Amino acid sequence: NLILEAKHVSKKFQSSGNRLLTACEDVSLNFYKNQTLGIVGESGCGKSTFMRMAVGLEKPSSGELFFHGRNMLELKGEELRLNRRNIQMIFQDPSEAFHPRMKVKEIICEPLLNFSLINRKEVDSKARELLEMVELPGNLADRYPHDMSGGQRQRAGIARALALEPEVIVCDEITSSLDVSAQKTIVELLIKLQNKKHVSIGFISHDLALVQQFAHQVAVMYLGNIVEIINGNEVCVNARHPYTQALLDSIFDVHMDFSKEIMSIESEVPSPLNVPAGCPFRNRCSYCMKVCETEKPKLKEIEPCHMVACHRYNDLCCI
Ligand code: SF4
Ligand code: MG
Repeated sequence: NLILEAKHVSKKFQSSGNRLLTACEDVSLNFYKNQTLGIVGESGCGKSTFMRMAVGLEKPSSGELFFHGRNMLELKGEELRLNRRNIQMIFQDPSEAFHPRMKVKEIICEPLLNFSLINRKEVDSKARELLEMVELPGNLADRYPHDMSGGQRQRAGIARALALEPEVIVCDEITSSLDVSAQKTIVELLIKLQNKKHVSIGFISHDLALVQQFAHQVAVMYLGNIVEIINGNEVCVNARHPYTQALLDSIFDVHMDFSKEIMSIESEVPSPLNVPAGCPFRNRCSYCMKVCETEKPKLKEIEPCHMVACHRYNDLCCI
C-alpha cells in the first residue's frame, strides 16, 4: 500500500565560489503503509536532505514526489495544508524544536490547536491521552522540557508528531543522542505505535546495526547517492555493496569470502563539492577496478527487492 513516492529526486546547491554541491542525486524511494523505511549513511551523505524534501520542507532541484498519486509539488492552499498534516517529522534534538517556556501539554497539543482540531479547554485531557500513547505518566503534562530526560523528551516529540494522526512520520536521528537502553525503548515504542496506527515510518540513522533490526527496507546512502536498497532482515546475510559491507564489518565482524582483504573505510569521505568521477565510493573501496574510475555504476535490481549500485556486485557475495 504505497503512500509516498519519491521519483528521481535531486538537490543541488550553488555553493560559495559558484561551485555546484550535490546533496542528493536521483533518489527514488517508496513509503508504504505500516512499513518502516530506514535510510543509513554517514553524516553529510544526504539522508536528511532527502527526507526534508520527502516531507515537503524543502523543494527538490529536480524529480517528483507523489502523495497517494498526487504531485506534492503542485499542491496549494488547503490541499498543501492537509498534506503537511499527513507527513510529520521528528528531529534529533527535540529540545531545539520545543519552546523552553512551553509546558509539555502545550507542546504536544500545539499542532492540534494550529489546525483547530481541539480548543484550549481540551488541551489537558488530550495531552493526557497523548502522553499515555507514548507511555509517559500524565503528570508530565505540566512540566517544562528541561525537567525531562532525553528519552522522555523524545517520547513527547513522538506524541506531538502523532497528534495529528499523520500517515507518514520521518524520524531524523531521533535515537542518536540517547544511551543504548533508551534507544531500545524508543524503537520498541515506534514498533508498537506502528502496529496500532499502521503509520509509515522513515527512519534516518547512521547506525546500520540498529536500523536493520526493525526497518522493513533499508536504503544505504553515500555522497548523495543510494548505493544499495535491501530488506532489513537481509542486510546481515545478503548485503552486496562494498560500502554496506564495510558498515556491517565495523559492527558484526561478518566473514567475507575467499581472497578478500579486510575491508576498512580508511580514506576520507570526499567533499560533495568534489565527488570523484566514476563510482562515488571508489577512493575508499578495496575492490575498485579501472571501470570504477570512469563509469558511475547504476542502481540495478539484482534480485526482487534488492538493488545495488556497484560494477562488481556479482563478485561480492558475503557468506
Ligand atoms: Fe567499489 Fe567499483 Fe563497486 Fe564502486 S563500483 S563500490 S569502486 S567495486
Ligand atoms: Mg542529518
